[in-house]
Amino acid sequence: MVPQNIAIVGAGLAGMACAKSLEAHGARVRLFEKSRRPGGRLATRRVEVEGVTHAFDHGAQYLTARGAHFAAVLDVTRAMPWPDDSRKVGRPNMATIGRGLADGLDIAVNRQVVEITGSPGAWMLRHHDGTLITPGAPLPEGPPEEDGPFDAIALTVPSPQAVPLLAGPAPHLAHVLEGVVMAPCWTVMLAFPTRIPLPDTLRLTGGPIAWAARDSSKPGRVAEQENWVVQASADWSRDHLERRPAEVAQLLHDALEKLVGQPLPPTLVKLAHRWRYALVEKPLGAPCLWDPTLGLGAGGDWAIDARAEAAVDSGIALAAAIRRA
Ligand SMILES: Cc1cc2nc3c(=O)[nH]c(=O)nc-3n(C[C@H](O)[C@H](O)[C@H](O)COP(=O)(O)OP(=O)(O)OC[C@H]3O[C@@H](n4cnc5c(N)ncnc54)[C@H](O)[C@@H]3O)c2cc1C
Repeated sequence: MVPQNIAIVGAGLAGMACAKSLEAHGARVRLFEKSRRPGGRLATRRVEVEGVTHAFDHGAQYLTARGAHFAAVLDVTRAMPWPDDSRKVGRPNMATIGRGLADGLDIAVNRQVVEITGSPGAWMLRHHDGTLITPGAPLPEGPPEEDGPFDAIALTVPSPQAVPLLAGPAPHLAHVLEGVVMAPCWTVMLAFPTRIPLPDTLRLTGGPIAWAARDSSKPGRVAEQENWVVQASADWSRDHLERRPAEVAQLLHDALEKLVGQPLPPTLVKLAHRWRYALVEKPLGAPCLWDPTLGLGAGGDWAIDARAEAAVDSGIALAAAIRRA
């Protein structure tokens, strides 16, 4: 039987691409997303300073399309070239791209899925209010909410977060996913009152900083602002994974200062965000994972490559695998 009533866990690019493809073929799809908004790692943080908003794309920096599907996504969401014609960014921010894709989809936000129960053909999802869950802490008191039954469930969350959800109902899939490796990335957002003497983008090797960019130089941003996004290398992020965000913000600020070679102006914003699962280091090596007998599977960038386009390609491949069932 081809599944008709499908749940997708995670409303990033992969989940939304999967949902759109399934819906185009007549399936009924509901997405569950733990954050307040869809989009996943295509993310923008807004910070108010004395009544002025500073925005930072603190996840994916720019997008490149090698295939027709993702080129169409970038066209539909009106992404603009930056810093050159081969790369594109959302306008006025990266989160716009996720929001554009979410249009028309049934997405339950603030719902963090904690368990899959039931049996093939009648799967149930248990979920809590995502805003009440702290990683590593006990789950909130009170019973989870439950949704279902679903003919099939697709997980489009980072692979390490799919493993515990699949461990009960599909241990063989969880086992395969354990082979995927994702690297963390500490990201620091800095705003200065005056311009600092660096080019708009820097890609570096061998030190704490892997990438730094003048976020405010992207099209559609407030050009008068001097907003920077600084990403640490995977090795540095691993070595400092459990450090306090304020310490990490200072360390990467100081590393940027060293690059400038002179004292930086005082900061208006100095914040760190830890992406525990940022970029794929060892992908699955197949477009997605699907067990047609169970009606369970998973997809995401981690299946193919450390690029946003891979997430869309994996989501579409997952939808095709579900339909073939
Ligand atoms: C710092 C950084 C820089 C990057 N730079 C680039 C770049 O320049 N170019 C590029 O192409 N790519 C870049 N990427 C990678 C790109 O962002 C990803 O490849 C892409 O966004 C992954 O999409 P996805 O749908 O597979 O996963 P995600 O975007 O991670 O979506 C998964 C979703 O699942 C949700 N979720 C997780 N667990 C649960 C749960 N239990 N219940 C409910 N929801 C859940 C999450 O909140 C999230 O919204 C970068 C990523 C990071 C973090």
